[in-house]
Amino acid sequence: MKTLSNKNVAVIGAGRAGAACARLLLERGARVRVLEKNADAVPADLIESGAAVGSDQELAALGKVDLIVPSPGVARSHPILRRAADDGTPIWSEVELASRFLDCPIVAITGTNGKSTTTVLIGNLLAEAGRRVFVGGNLGTPLAEAAGKQLDVAVVEVSSFQLEWLDAFQPRVAVWLNLTADHLDRYASMEDYEDAKAALLRHLAADGVAVLNRDDERVWAHRRDVAGEVFSFGLDEVERGVFFDRGEAVIRRDGETRIALGGRPLQGAHNVENMMAAVAVGAVLDVPLEAIDRALTATTGLPHRLQFVAEKSGARYFDDSKATNVGAVEKSIASFPGGIILLLGGYDKGGDFRSLRRCMPGRVDRVVCFGAAGPEIAAQLSGAVECEVVGGVADAVRCAARLAGPGQTVVLAPGCASFDEFRDYAERGRQYRSEVERL
Ligand code: ADP
Repeated sequence: MKTLSNKNVAVIGAGRAGAACARLLLERGARVRVLEKNADAVPADLIESGAAVGSDQELAALGKVDLIVPSPGVARSHPILRRAADDGTPIWSEVELASRFLDCPIVAITGTNGKSTTTVLIGNLLAEAGRRVFVGGNLGTPLAEAAGKQLDVAVVEVSSFQLEWLDAFQPRVAVWLNLTADHLDRYASMEDYEDAKAALLRHLAADGVAVLNRDDERVWAHRRDVAGEVFSFGLDEVERGVFFDRGEAVIRRDGETRIALGGRPLQGAHNVENMMAAVAVGAVLDVPLEAIDRALTATTGLPHRLQFVAEKSGARYFDDSKATNVGAVEKSIASFPGGIILLLGGYDKGGDFRSLRRCMPGRVDRVVCFGAAGPEIAAQLSGAVECEVVGGVADAVRCAARLAGPGQTVVLAPGCASFDEFRDYAERGRQYRSEVERL
């Protein structure tokens, strides 16, 4: 499609990403129809700019469209997408659409966990190097908002959902951090989920570089899919790549340089991985070591990622509300020496909580299971650890406070989405924090 002018485009969903796409399409002269379950959710400026609004269920009335842009939350099985796939109507994700209006190289970051943290870190080190950088995607500002801007580089967090409908999208650097079970309520199998992530490597520019985690077996196996260069990171020494040596990242690319990772605000073994990934991207994009150093010092943890909240009656409380899958919970548990009272629960995405049984002994003393998934989680952990089943997050905090003694650590790392009780993980984290403060 050469131009969008006068094309009939249907945008499904009017959340942040969908609305940004609709704005971009309207600016480029397309005739836009926004299909949204909740008509009140469509921002007024879209209607003022000429967008038509309909329901996402109006399959028969939709008529002929030249292009469909689904929001990331729209499943592949949606009837409109199924029909479009059958009749050959192009379908573009938000990042696909946005990338067509960007002149700068794109650094795209995916993985089950650590995407946002690593995206912010990479954005910071490029900014420290004086580059005009856009930072966004799944983590905040949609990439569509970068379209048409004067930029040196765009750093974009991409979830598996955003990688579903790609065509001409060609990142210059593709980072794949890790892969553990998640979103199994949307994907038929782990292989389907993995394949959705692997799309990022299939789309890498011919002169692009894939930054892959050597310590994640599933990710590392995909080095064989990469047409361009692979520049990897991992703990063990390699001849070429980034590795960890006595608190430092060693960068072997053209010669060898070192940079300290210890003593930085981002703490924990998982953040060593995230920092090594960012350092690898810095090396690929010729960011001076001093700029990387400044960014590693300036980047603090994001809210609701293993954040300290307060100490109450000698017990320390942490908010890891963003730990929405079992892999992230494992990292959370590994971040403390022991004495953990773990709060698990929420809206289950098909996670297998049995796999937590092996990392509990000696570390997790009690589990408080809450929300819709609470009873099921308690059943899966039965025999491995003592579990209490309660109602919502507020009940979970009160229960944890009864159980916790001095020296123990209470961690909200729910391993589930939040939609049974909250709008998103941030709202859940905020309620947890205010309940803790009130103790
Ligand atoms: P994402 O954007 O992929 O969800 P975040 O940076 O927001 O990643 O972190 C989400 C959760 O995963 C947090 O609980 C965080 O502590 C944990 N986490 C961060 N980095 C990693 C990593 N490399 N491996 C596993 N878990 C991680």
